[in-house]
Amino acid sequence: MKVAVLPGDGIGPEIVTEAVKILNALEERFEIEQAPIGGAGYEVGGHPLPDATLALASHADAILFGAVGDWKYDRLERELRPEQAILGLRKHLRLFANLRPVICYSELTGASSLKSEIVSGLDILIVRELSGDIYFGQPRGLRDAPDGPFYGSREGFDTMRYAEPEVRRIAHVAFQSAQKRAKRLTSIDKANVLETSQLWRDVITSVACEYPDVELSHLYVDNAAMQLVKAPKTFDVIVTGNMFGDILSDEAAMLTGSIGMLPSASLDANNKGLYEPSHGSAPDIAGKGIANPLATILSVAMMLRYSLGRAEQANRVEDAVKSILAQGYRTMDIATPNCKKVGTQEMGDAVIAALAS
Ligand code: NAD
Repeated sequence: MKVAVLPGDGIGPEIVTEAVKILNALEERFEIEQAPIGGAGYEVGGHPLPDATLALASHADAILFGAVGDWKYDRLERELRPEQAILGLRKHLRLFANLRPVICYSELTGASSLKSEIVSGLDILIVRELSGDIYFGQPRGLRDAPDGPFYGSREGFDTMRYAEPEVRRIAHVAFQSAQKRAKRLTSIDKANVLETSQLWRDVITSVACEYPDVELSHLYVDNAAMQLVKAPKTFDVIVTGNMFGDILSDEAAMLTGSIGMLPSASLDANNKGLYEPSHGSAPDIAGKGIANPLATILSVAMMLRYSLGRAEQANRVEDAVKSILAQGYRTMDIATPNCKKVGTQEMGDAVIAALAS
């Protein structure tokens, strides 16, 4: 099976190196090919998503992605900025379902900004629609306001839109995910204000008839943001649109102690996927050897499970991560008093040692 490895920028290469080490430490051999993307792609090919990188990603069975972005590219025109690479990949590969497990490991409850009784044992799955919504809706742009109280002033505008089949396909992913867990699904929208959300709610409710074993509830996004910090353990699976999911999943990330712990999978209709940590390229700590590689290593576990059909290997990697946390290994972002403080590379080595034991 072929895995395309796209390290990207900032801490991307550092954390991906550790994740690839894990992949290579498994008994089974995977064909691994690497290509530049983001700022690194721009430097070599003048575009954040070079043709050769896109071709490699298109033909691979799965993609392991680090992170893209650096402040030094902020002055480039939007289409050439590193972040466009990930949007381009999602679009070309028709990746519409983003799965983000939010798990608070018992050893890390102290690293969360919330009281440990609120987060201890937390296990949520966020299913975020990835290909529609205001991030992709047309028309969008900058113009002189054609009407209204600010007529003639420069204004920016975007279009939030969802089509019924788009909502239906993500609904099925969410209901089926809930069936494999505690069978509770919360759909998050803003149906009291937005037409897009009203359609979203109607479609989710209609799909629910096909999954009578799953208990469905709806929440407005503002209330959901509150509930996530007030009583996060009341959630099992969450399904939501692209923008609300973007924001809520970062909020949820902090419940676990560090965004450096959160893996993610972005899947197409055939479970081909792109796997990446939920965080960005962290330019503030790039090159220092202190980034937490566990989100990327746990993304490898998701890749083994969802795209490579190796659930047993996925469990092994996840168990190895739990084991090194239990042994006290911590990178700076999750450090606690008396822990074994390690850098990126030592953390990867510790996971490999746990895999072998
Ligand atoms: P970020 O996630 O990169 O960093 C936020 C904070 O979390 C920083 O303090 C950083 O040091 C810390 N952090 C992130 N990952 C960490 C890790 N593995 N270990 C320890 N600490 C970690 O978000 P940002 O600072 O808003 O964005 C930086 C760049 O990343 C920007 O260019 C942004 O556009 C880009 N970005 C890329 C992606 C992606 O590639 N999918 C996602 C989000 C942001």
